[in-house]
Formats: sequence, C-alpha cells, structure tokens
Amino acid sequence: MRVTVLGSAQDGGLPQSGSAHPIDEAVRRGDLPARTASSLVVETPNARLLLDASPDLRSQWADRSGMPDAVVLTHGHIGHYTGLVHFGKEAANAAGVPLLVTPSMAAFLRSHEPWRSLVVAGHVELRVGFEHEGWGTTVRLLTVPHRAEHTDTVAVSVGGEILYLPDIDSWEQWPLAREVVGAHAVAFLDATFWSPDEIPGRDLSEIPHPFVPDTLERFGDLDTRVVLTHLNHTNPLCDPGSPQAAEVAAAGWTVAYDGMRV
Ligand SMILES: [Zn+2]
Ligand SMILES: [Zn+2]
Repeated sequence: MRVTVLGSAQDGGLPQSGSAHPIDEAVRRGDLPARTASSLVVETPNARLLLDASPDLRSQWADRSGMPDAVVLTHGHIGHYTGLVHFGKEAANAAGVPLLVTPSMAAFLRSHEPWRSLVVAGHVELRVGFEHEGWGTTVRLLTVPHRAEHTDTVAVSVGGEILYLPDIDSWEQWPLAREVVGAHAVAFLDATFWSPDEIPGRDLSEIPHPFVPDTLERFGDLDTRVVLTHLNHTNPLCDPGSPQAAEVAAAGWTVAYDGMRV
C-alpha cells in the first residue's frame, strides 16, 4: 500500500484565515511551506481510499482524475468532512461514492444540509459500521476520545498496517493507545500542539490535544514508524528548521508535509 499525505495541518490550514501569527506570516512570505487540512490517500492494489474529506479537497485532489473509490470520515469537525461539498451536482456530480462512517457520523450527514442532499441524490452512499471489507483491504474504525459536539470520532486502520489518527483529546483517556499504535507499521498521529504556550488567550480545555513531547515519550520506543500530522498553525513543527523538528527527527520520527509519500 502506498500513502500520500494530501494535507498535514489542523482543520484551519496554514496560513490560517485571519491569523497574524509569525508562522502564518512566514508562510505568506514564502519562507515556510503552506499546509492544507489533514487528509491522506491510501492506494491499495486496486483502489484509492481517501481518509477524510477536507475543506481543501478541491486542490488536494486536483491532479487526480476520477473520484476516490471510497471515503473514510473520522468525525464531524470542519476539517474532516466538509470537502464533501465537491461531490455534489455543482461540482463532480459523483455517483454512489461509498462513505465509510460510524452510525453517529451517518446520522449527522443524513440530518443536516447540504450533506443530506448528497445522500438523497445518491452522490454518496453511506456504508455504516466499524469494519469494512473491500477495495483490496479491510478498513476498521476505532473510536477515540475527542470532543463530540456533532459526532463521535474514530481513528482509521487500513489493512492493520496503516493507522490514521488526526484528532484525540488525550492519550490517557484511550487505554488502547499504546497497543493500537504499536500494532501498526505506520501511524499518522495527532500533533496539533507542541506546547500549551502556543495559544495564549485560548482555553485549552475547550480544544484538548496531547502535546508532541508527551506523545514522543509514550510511543518513542515502539517499532512503529510515526508520522506527525494535523499541525496547528502555531506549532513550531511547521518550521522544518526548528529545534523542535530536530528533536522529532532525532527520535526517528517524521513530520508530515503536503505531498509526502510513505
Ligand atoms: Zn481536526
Ligand atoms: Zn476534531
């Protein structure tokens, strides 16, 4: 299986609209690479699976012809499903693209426009459940703790080899974390924040995430190849030349970037 990182930023992307943070300004000057919202495409021998439909889907999918063979959605926060707007009659006019979703995500899509219309008109076809066979592999959805205003949240396991886990509130709240991460050859993990100092003025209890040094300490000894993704626009890892990026590299981990192939 081949994985391409389509987007490596937290939901708001980089640069983030309205932000004058030094990292956003460095991207605007062209000194650092821009990042679109978190998404992967996994190519099995006979299919292309899109993991999350980000709001940046139009540019992320621009150099691919045809639609994905299936789309897996992790949850109902804006960075992870709103790219579905590009599947409707105003755009790709897709026909029956399978959406692999939890019952909670399916209920959300069925009951809110414009997603409801995509389902009713058959542009997408909801496949509801936590285990999906097909496309030359098995896709499992693993429930993880993450603020659930609209839907539950899952990590995605493809073929038991690739783990995609862009959003989690904390590792402590998920007792299976070490076992699950350790069971995969490659794990794309939530690296939203490096430290709580990044976002002064925001109440972190409203947007909890593990901090990268904690993640390193917990999983640094595993054989799993860890790729850090879903970077907030304030995360020093957005700068490949930062000391934090050097720390990650020294541990044998990598920081995702848009277009990265694994
Ligand atoms: Zn997110
Ligand atoms: Zn989220």
